[in-house]
Amino acid sequence: MLNVPPQAFPAPSSQQRAAAGGRAKVPLKPGRSLMDWIRLTKSGKDMTGLKGRLIEVTEDELAKHNKKEDCWICIRGFVYNVTPYMEYHPGGEDELMKAAGTDGTDLFDQVHRWVNYESMLKECLVGRMAVKPITAPKEITSVSEEKKQLNGMLPKKKVPCTSSKDLTPSYDWFQTDSLITIAVYTKQKGMNADSVILDCEDKRLRGEIIVDDYSYLLEVDLNHAVQEDVAVNIAEKVGKVEIILKKKDNVHWKILGQPLENHNTFMKRTDRGLFYRKCKLVSKTEVTHDTKLFCLLLPESTHLRVPTGQHVYLKQIIAGTEVVKPYTPVLPFLPLDFQEPSCHDSAHIYLMIKIYPCGLFTQALDHLQIGDYISVSSPEGSFKKSQVQTSEELFLLAAGTGFTPMVKLLNFALTEVSCLRTVKLIFFNRTEDDILWRNQLEQLALKDERFEVQFILSQPVRDWVGKQGMISSSLLSEFVKRSRKDSKVLICICGPTPFTEQGVQYLKDLGYSQEEVHPFTA
Ligand code: FAD
Ligand code: NAP
Repeated sequence: MLNVPPQAFPAPSSQQRAAAGGRAKVPLKPGRSLMDWIRLTKSGKDMTGLKGRLIEVTEDELAKHNKKEDCWICIRGFVYNVTPYMEYHPGGEDELMKAAGTDGTDLFDQVHRWVNYESMLKECLVGRMAVKPITAPKEITSVSEEKKQLNGMLPKKKVPCTSSKDLTPSYDWFQTDSLITIAVYTKQKGMNADSVILDCEDKRLRGEIIVDDYSYLLEVDLNHAVQEDVAVNIAEKVGKVEIILKKKDNVHWKILGQPLENHNTFMKRTDRGLFYRKCKLVSKTEVTHDTKLFCLLLPESTHLRVPTGQHVYLKQIIAGTEVVKPYTPVLPFLPLDFQEPSCHDSAHIYLMIKIYPCGLFTQALDHLQIGDYISVSSPEGSFKKSQVQTSEELFLLAAGTGFTPMVKLLNFALTEVSCLRTVKLIFFNRTEDDILWRNQLEQLALKDERFEVQFILSQPVRDWVGKQGMISSSLLSEFVKRSRKDSKVLICICGPTPFTEQGVQYLKDLGYSQEEVHPFTA
């Protein structure tokens, strides 16, 4: 019998999603929702057939369990009997069967990186792979060499990707009577406030510096207490980031503190587990009949800005299971004067969220009271502002809450991209009542001659005189047109997965290149 260490549940990098961020790829049978799965796992039923025993599984043994009626999968060295989960899997049984009887770690990471399978499948745990896992657990550089006090520059950690070795940041720290300053040298130009994510709770400091697709982490148990308000200074030209902490007591620090597990590591962003901090719900206002604007307050000791085009994950415990869903922060309103870069309110995160009558996560969100706390992750996403910076014409195709990434994008494009001649939003909704921020969009179109908005309804009621229909090749050829043959265009698209996938295909058929189309996905 195998004694699985309790700290594996949940793993440090635990992430989860319940469905593919929207409509399930494969329609689930009635009674097979995530909530139904949670209920089943709590029913006391023996999910593994081993009556709670944990075993060591050899590769040969794993390979035997490769059928729908008897399916085991290894993820990061742990083996799960996913047979009872088959019908509940939002991606469908065939997707799950691709990993049947094998190590599904890579497959899982490609599709479900943020799913907290440890929590979701904990009742299905069969045990650990014998001898060694087929795929090693994700990189966590050994800390043994650093189990010593921090007293200045430390040796660089191993960098997982050799090509990025030259870019490995380093750090130093110094102090005055009242301040501690930690200086991180990234050797990268163009670092900005979005590149730094800082959390400091009690004496625990976590500073993540984003360098392109990589992340450098400082993680220290500070030697003495600091005040809550932290400051971040960035010298953009030389890529130096300064983290400034105010001492609580004006004592001399002999050392910065004790390094924590992932301190001084530099790795691909996607290989680092999501980090969450608790944010307070400060307001909840109606946008439409089913959509609300949630305003969350970040802790005072957190520095976090969600870059344009990126999303965060919210985490709630629902019926004893951690559930995680992605949401794309918006602005509190659509600025109508885009002449000056707007001054960003960096203390709050605004989320525009549709509450689905049967939605597991959104129903729980809607029941949060003002003053309640919810866990919010650091930002993620593949969109890069540089995609817009070189464009002359920007087309935004949004369906329903697929409008959310377009909000900051509009703000950025109209404020900061001088070469943009036109920005056109084509907004698909069911009915007039579903259109988010319709007034604001119409006002913006009146105010800024570069901006145009076109509403298209799939199920109009009353006397809708506007355009009607679903996304189609003919509709796109009507609304998405280069004004000049050689115009540089960018087309961003976001909505239900099939909407986005169809849109991308139609645009390809219409002759737009892959670089000219950016689909927002999870
Ligand atoms: P579930 O319990 O998963 O579904 C219950 C029922 O609700 C479903 O059977 C279906 O009938 C209906 N339903 C649920 N989701 C959808 C859907 N997406 N489309 C149509 N019907 C659905 N949502 C926002 O409101 N605002 C955002 O800013 C936002 N940003 C996102 C960013 C990304 C990158 C992704 C991938 C998704 C985003 N979503 C956003 C969707 C969000 O993550 C959830 O999928 C959504 O809130 C539903 O969660 P739920 O648990 O309440 O519904
Ligand atoms: P919705 O109200 O269900 O639909 C909005 C419009 O899209 C309607 O006109 C609808 O037409 C149409 N539509 C829906 N499904 C379609 C399909 N399969 N093919 C073509 N058109 C379709 O939308 P919603 O409930 O707000 O959902 C918004 C979606 O955006 C969610 O799935 C969410 O996950 C996603 N989203 C993604 C991101 C991201 O960054 N990836 C961000 C925010 C939101 P009919 O329903 O009348 O057919």
